[in-house]
Amino acid sequence: MRQYPIEKYRNIGIIAHIDAGKTTVSERILFYTGISHKIGEVHTGQAIMDWMDQERERGITITSAATTCFWSPTLEGDERKKEDEHRINIIDTPGHIDFTAEVQRSLRVLDGAVVVFDGVAGVEPQSETVWRQADKFMIPRICFINKLDRTGASFDTVLESIHKKLTTNTAILQIPVGSESELEGVIDLLDMKMIRFDGDFGQILKYEEIPENMKERAEELRTKLLEKIVAEDDELFERYLEKQEISKEELIKVLRKAVLDYKLIPVLCGTALKNKGVQLLLDAVCHYLPSPIDLPPVEGRNPKTDEEETRVPDDSKPFSALAFKVATDPYVGTLTYFRVYSGKLTTGSYVLNTATGEKERISRMLRMHSAEREEVKEVYAGDIAATVGLKNTSTGHTLCDEGHPVILEEITFPEPVISIRIEPKTKADQEKMGIALKKLSDEDPTFRIRTDQETSETIIAGMGELHLEVLIDRMKREFKVEAQVGRPQVAYRETIRQNAEAEGKYVRQSGGRGQYGHVLLRVEPKEEGEGLEFTDEIKGGAIPKEFIPAIEKGIKEASDKGVLAGYAISDLKVTVYDGTFHEVDSSEMAFKIAGAMAFTEACKKAKPVLLEPIMKIEVIIPPDFLGDVIGDLSSRRAKIEETEERMGTKAIKGKIPLSEMFGYATSIRSLTEGRGNFTMEFDSYKEVPANVSQEIIEGRKK
Ligand code: GDP
Repeated sequence: MRQYPIEKYRNIGIIAHIDAGKTTVSERILFYTGISHKIGEVHTGQAIMDWMDQERERGITITSAATTCFWSPTLEGDERKKEDEHRINIIDTPGHIDFTAEVQRSLRVLDGAVVVFDGVAGVEPQSETVWRQADKFMIPRICFINKLDRTGASFDTVLESIHKKLTTNTAILQIPVGSESELEGVIDLLDMKMIRFDGDFGQILKYEEIPENMKERAEELRTKLLEKIVAEDDELFERYLEKQEISKEELIKVLRKAVLDYKLIPVLCGTALKNKGVQLLLDAVCHYLPSPIDLPPVEGRNPKTDEEETRVPDDSKPFSALAFKVATDPYVGTLTYFRVYSGKLTTGSYVLNTATGEKERISRMLRMHSAEREEVKEVYAGDIAATVGLKNTSTGHTLCDEGHPVILEEITFPEPVISIRIEPKTKADQEKMGIALKKLSDEDPTFRIRTDQETSETIIAGMGELHLEVLIDRMKREFKVEAQVGRPQVAYRETIRQNAEAEGKYVRQSGGRGQYGHVLLRVEPKEEGEGLEFTDEIKGGAIPKEFIPAIEKGIKEASDKGVLAGYAISDLKVTVYDGTFHEVDSSEMAFKIAGAMAFTEACKKAKPVLLEPIMKIEVIIPPDFLGDVIGDLSSRRAKIEETEERMGTKAIKGKIPLSEMFGYATSIRSLTEGRGNFTMEFDSYKEVPANVSQEIIEGRKK
């Protein structure tokens, strides 16, 4: 039986620029939701400290991909009303833009988000990037302006930066009372009360009259807020004009609808570290963020018919779920986190993985709470849980009812753009490293491992310098592998620019059983990102059917090493159209080699070119440095697209080859006296200019 009605579910993410306070806000949420479950217990400062220390040591809460907690936004006397309890699942979202695929995946499974801002720094470049992604995935959200206790913090300035850079559709629900170290509490503009957070850990909420000197401002802002809310509802609007009484509940209801329709974004404030405002943030999560049934049905595709299908969050419908994170847990092994979109799932049953076509048995399921793991026997639509021990399910795979197959997500991950050679320190590390890398790549589809055929070295590839740094660090810490790493290398690629034909003949016929393979093929360029397409146009059995797969295999292998500088060659179509064979001497091996020879030969004739990853970049600097920074960017082959004024700073946007960006973090600091900042993400592969290309090719020859 379902314990909580689905309309009381909130699947949320907390998203923020690194350091804005995501971890602290999450910790406080788990803390307050934790104690609200132990009503009647005495909480001395010491007990609460211990609770937090234990939490940290256990470390499962904040590092868990999804944590479940409960909160009731309704007060009944001094206590929170049990019947209005909501189940809040907090889904972890990575903080850095390098992990694009991961950010996108976690955004996909959550229904709403809390965006945390630093009360001093305001909207930082990465909050902007994540904000745009949340727009793309149509995620209703709430803003929380944190750290208002810090010196230099200003609610108004941060609000201004939100309005300028992100959105003007804000619904300001609170203002702070006092500032910096004198921050006393907040004024709730719907209640028109000031709230103080008493007790050692702000656990006691005290509702008081608004201080005299703030009344006028509060009235003014409340009027603005009401105007924004009533504008969303005709009836309320009428009543507002007629100056009738409108209850808080009515306002919440209409504001909720406006948030779900992406029309308004509530803004709250406080300081997580100093325990002010987090309970009200939880109230707002319940009041304004969507439950699974508030959102449109999830879209997918039937793998059999190829037709579009949808899944509604209804327990009685066939089961469907998306695996959004695979994690390795030192105690239980592989944990696959999934979100249920429809139906229910019971332990002991089987599900179909539509990405692999295989069935998997669900032996155990867990739900993570702040302090413990809970074994669950059944999960329902809207739920988030983890299952233990799935072997072949990766991030992005759909798990569903065998009789009703569906693919909820087409898995396309950006190709890694950067690689590093990595060498274990000792023989013992060698084996551990293999295991560690395999586990890490299972967790993260943008992280790849391969072995260099010639040198037998291990090469790891990912989405950026920082991405690989983090993974190497995890390998050392979590898997205790000692390894030496090389310098990061750009993952160049090759492709062709025109059609060409070639012949490959592999014949060894001297004594005993010989070898005979003979292939004619054609190569044609395709669009960027289309990969390698193989077609068989052999007529009249010029090459027997059974050898075709061997030819394809030979071509695929040969494509790992391009013809210019040995980088993988792709985005082309290969058509095998003729050949000959020998009754006795032909073999799969001979055709594989002949296919590879013909392919390499054809590519050489097809005007091969070198491609390089181009990054989208944004550099934020004080205006004084504009000339120097642009000059430096141009010398790095950047194409500047626009420069805009932003809150007294300049934002330079453009595209730049990744190869020119090594060490840029240091350069930008020295160019701007430490005040510049930048972000970048992968954009596309583009042809390398001839002079640069020549250098790279020469370099590879050495
Ligand atoms: P994350 O990187 O977004 O997860 O940020 P953290 O929660 O780890 O916080 C970064 C730093 O800011 C830590 O040193 C926190 O103690 C501090 N911090 C977080 N919230 C507040 C706050 O409300 N006020 C102040 N003064 N510091 C805070």
